[in-house]
Amino acid sequence: MGLFGKTIAELSDTAARFGLRPYGARQIAHWLYAKHVNRIEEMTNLPRRVREAMVAQYGDDVGRREPIARQASCDGTLKYLFPVLDEWCVESAVIPDGERQTLCLSTQAGCRRACRFCMTGRLGFHGNLTPDGILNQYASLPERDGITNIVFMGMGEPLDNIEAVLRSLEIFTADYGYAMSPTRLTVSTVGILPALERLISETRCHIALSVHSPFSEERKRLVPAEAAYPVANAIETLRRARIGGQRRIMIEYTPFEGLNDTSAHAKALARLLRGLRCRINLIPFNSVPGIPLRGSDRPRIEAFQAELRRHGFMATIRKSKGADIAAACGLLHNIHPPDRDGEDRCNVRMEPARGFEPRTH
Ligand code: SAH
Repeated sequence: MGLFGKTIAELSDTAARFGLRPYGARQIAHWLYAKHVNRIEEMTNLPRRVREAMVAQYGDDVGRREPIARQASCDGTLKYLFPVLDEWCVESAVIPDGERQTLCLSTQAGCRRACRFCMTGRLGFHGNLTPDGILNQYASLPERDGITNIVFMGMGEPLDNIEAVLRSLEIFTADYGYAMSPTRLTVSTVGILPALERLISETRCHIALSVHSPFSEERKRLVPAEAAYPVANAIETLRRARIGGQRRIMIEYTPFEGLNDTSAHAKALARLLRGLRCRINLIPFNSVPGIPLRGSDRPRIEAFQAELRRHGFMATIRKSKGADIAAACGLLHNIHPPDRDGEDRCNVRMEPARGFEPRTH
């Protein structure tokens, strides 16, 4: 690993090893995260002999990687393919929405949680990104300076890679790093404990919890992680944390036709969430080829939303973006570098599924 992605504590060790004074770590961090340099040689306020010694150890490159492919959706969403972990790639999406521009980034190549309706889940798990691999999806993004929000909702279960996720959050928010407000960052999870407790206590970022059913047996079929990590425990943990002020909790719920979209489900969900200050975000299902689930239609989703509102919850419906380039929720699936001839060598074939309607506006 190069210098990029190191926290201030790690850079302090590096600085000491190269005989720099303690503020040397801050100088390096400033070059890496405020000045966005790519090469050690550009860190011109470090003594030349120190730069040369660092180059001898790390190579001149700080460790950032340019994206190797890009796709643009007709709705303005962009999808990038970034190389990670030598042999793999991950996808990130940039989603414009009025004044906001959200970056959706990945934390793992593939995922081991195998949610039934998620394309990443079908890939299996291939590796945890290191902090630099997570941060690079922001740092090397052409739209970087226009990004207003970052959501950890791309490929992978962030809490299965908690160490790297916490380090990247430190660098995103620290004054020596990108100095972003934690209210611009959201981490989404199926509810892995005790990693969730660390996310609550060691960061101040927003938390999104993928619930999808208030009934344990049914949730197990949709989100197999329920068997080991019942969502009721995650909700109880969040409730006890008394999260308030600027910090928000978002509950994610995808209504499927005739499955989890009934009035009984809305009532049970409201009961499960009682006493938790949260917003419920209904995510219309993005069809996945070969998966025999159908998303509820719009009137049905609106009825579900209305029922939740009657129980006093704030409930919104997420605008689906980027489905035509498989950049929408649950559709990220490329983990292989493209072939030399430019062909997309993805191991899940994208074919139009029933009910798959690319948005044209
Ligand atoms: N592993 C994390 C983050 C990635 S997914 C998590 O599960 O929370 C981000 C959100 O997209 C989750 O709420 C997930 O359940 C949802 N999602 C997955 N596949 C989807 C699909 N095909 N259509 C709509 N939402 C989907």
